Amino acid sequence: MQYVFQCFTGDLSEVSLADAGILLSKLKPFHEAGQLKAVMAGWSLDLDFYRSLKETLDQWGVPLYLKLAVFSEWNGYEGFEKTVPADGREVSTHVLSSEETFEFRCPTSEHNLEEVLSLYDRHFAEIGFSGVFLDRIRYSSLTSGLAGMGCFCDRCQRIYRRKGLDPDKVREKLLHYASCPEPELQQPLRLLEYTNDGWRVNDPELDAFFRVRCEIIEESLGRLIDAFHERGLKVGLDLFAPSLGYFAGQRFRYLGKKADFVKPMLYRYTDAPAGIPFEVDALRDALGESAAEDCLSVFGTEAEHYRKLVEQELTNLRSCSCDVYPGFEANTVPGVVTMSPERVKDMLNLIQKSSFDTVVPSWNLAMMPKENLIELH
Ligand SMILES: [Zn+2]
Repeated sequence: MQYVFQCFTGDLSEVSLADAGILLSKLKPFHEAGQLKAVMAGWSLDLDFYRSLKETLDQWGVPLYLKLAVFSEWNGYEGFEKTVPADGREVSTHVLSSEETFEFRCPTSEHNLEEVLSLYDRHFAEIGFSGVFLDRIRYSSLTSGLAGMGCFCDRCQRIYRRKGLDPDKVREKLLHYASCPEPELQQPLRLLEYTNDGWRVNDPELDAFFRVRCEIIEESLGRLIDAFHERGLKVGLDLFAPSLGYFAGQRFRYLGKKADFVKPMLYRYTDAPAGIPFEVDALRDALGESAAEDCLSVFGTEAEHYRKLVEQELTNLRSCSCDVYPGFEANTVPGVVTMSPERVKDMLNLIQKSSFDTVVPSWNLAMMPKENLIELH
């Protein structure tokens, strides 16, 4: 098995949460065993950290990617245009801890895309990264509820119209379903069919809206990927588990056409955004029990911590046109996820059976429990 390791170094407002020397001592055994494919670290402004890391990785011939948030999570930086949710709330936020917030930026804003590039050019270009690993490339998922989905700024509404949607009708539907305590009692939302292009939903307005959100992410991200490629950088993408990613605006089949690799987050145990149990619960809360049953009837039950869902996702991901490096949890975060060596081993076996040969133990090598790290060797 080959490994791509991640290291979260803090965001723009922080100096650095990681020490390059300690990180390299953890990476060295994997390099010596010929198992270290790449390292992704970011996105604090501590350039000395990246320089020290890169110096040794260059000697080893291992590429270093900058992990960079796009449509969310630039704590301490106010230069982005935020989304305007259907219910007019100013900001849609999910706070996990003082270190992790989920505020979303409007993905159709040219200014927002230019800001990401300009931040890269100003702060990080001099390091000479091999590429960028783009995180938070999505809308708010169902965890913010239907009323928090999408953006209803003037520009987004114009784009919806151009794509055949009536923004007023869509907003009306979102708020209607959001205000039903049990949506399925009034008008059941059903998930009719799943393909690699996403879910078909029985409500025509919502069906079209979910699809358009994906198109918008694909178009905006396509421009960003082109711009990074023009700078000579490779581009990797951090994606949700595909069946749930559709509701955050992600379709791996389209995003994979431009990217160099994708990392689907197959997080079976995480009780936080992007975690499968958390997103399935959010689906149940936002779309109703019938829709949750539809989803699980395609992807298997919640038993065995979504083992069947992950197996099915791995099979579907084989049709992706770029490299796929499945991501799985290897960290323990109190109150969010507990990972034991047994769980790590089970996930490695599952991925190995699916014929993918490169994985991303997530989220943070710097904080990974020793016993889980040993399980990877
Ligand atoms: Zn907008």
